[in-house]
Amino acid sequence: MYLSELFQRKKCLFSFEIFPPKKNSDTTAIYQTIANLQRLRPDFISVTCGAGGSSCDDNITVKIAHHIKKEYGIEALAHLTCVNSSRQNLEETLAFLREKQIDNVLALRGDRVKDCNASDFAYAHELISLVKREGGFYIAAACYPEGHPESHNRADDIRHLKEKVDAGASHLISQLFFANEDFYRFMDEIRAAGIDVPVEAGIMPAVDKCLIEKIVALCGATLPTKLSRLLNRFESSPATIFDAGIAYATEQIMDLISAGVQGIHLYTMNNPIVAEKITQNIGNLLKEVNGEQS
Ligand code: FAD
Repeated sequence: MYLSELFQRKKCLFSFEIFPPKKNSDTTAIYQTIANLQRLRPDFISVTCGAGGSSCDDNITVKIAHHIKKEYGIEALAHLTCVNSSRQNLEETLAFLREKQIDNVLALRGDRVKDCNASDFAYAHELISLVKREGGFYIAAACYPEGHPESHNRADDIRHLKEKVDAGASHLISQLFFANEDFYRFMDEIRAAGIDVPVEAGIMPAVDKCLIEKIVALCGATLPTKLSRLLNRFESSPATIFDAGIAYATEQIMDLISAGVQGIHLYTMNNPIVAEKITQNIGNLLKEVNGEQS
């Protein structure tokens, strides 16, 4: 099923992101994580490819996406990056996605890493055009409420985002952010630029100080004073940071849903406890906006 069907049925989607294990690592843990996450019945689960050191090799992303769909009947969104791939590699991956009946693809450039292979594509919109030409896939793309770290200015970034939508992206998923005002400003800007596809807000609960600081440094997101004060004040108590991170993310999500966001994409970091806590906290609100309250 294409994710567009979900947007037709629901006012606000709730989805999870997971990442595959590193190359040559044991895969038992990821399948256990999925078994735990599926009980929370997200609308779909996205599976990264090559992000944060996880593997893109052996089509592990596609295999995990297939498992999610086949074993649990939950739609899967397979991430596909072009930075380190030739056109032929990408066409083969698309053929494998088709064979495994994965209908939904998040088409990305990927982060440029040292020693990467020559690529036939410089930007995500070129990959989106390829997937569109091949046909048979619903295509999502990434967006950046605070701007992409490499972009010179917001106007250029939004112009390039429009190229992705014009090339065939039907849905955007945002980079993580911690200040909703950044997201609202971004939404006003992209709507004014004529980008009218659904946008899911990417939320990562700040439940681990070291991890969140590492991720923020990598992706360029801003830590608001309120949150960094909290992380610094309680750094010696991981349990307190965990509770505070869940509370902060819950408040963020509740505000976004009240403001009419079309989806929340939870960066689970493969931690089902985080996903469970957030699901418990926002479950009734989601049912209410989606008209599912009994
Ligand atoms: P693009 O849309 O190509 O943009 C990259 C930069 O190029 C931007 O600054 C943009 O403004 C600029 N640009 C675009 N088009 C042009 C043009 N025509 N001329 C000049 N400049 C241009 N990474 C992974 O490796 N694996 C993953 O699974 C993964 N999943 C992600 C999921 C989400 C929801 C998000 C938000 C990010 C994810 N990333 C992942 C990270 C992503 O790959 C990086 O942020 C990457 O640097 C940019 O990818 P993109 O698809 O947004 O690139």
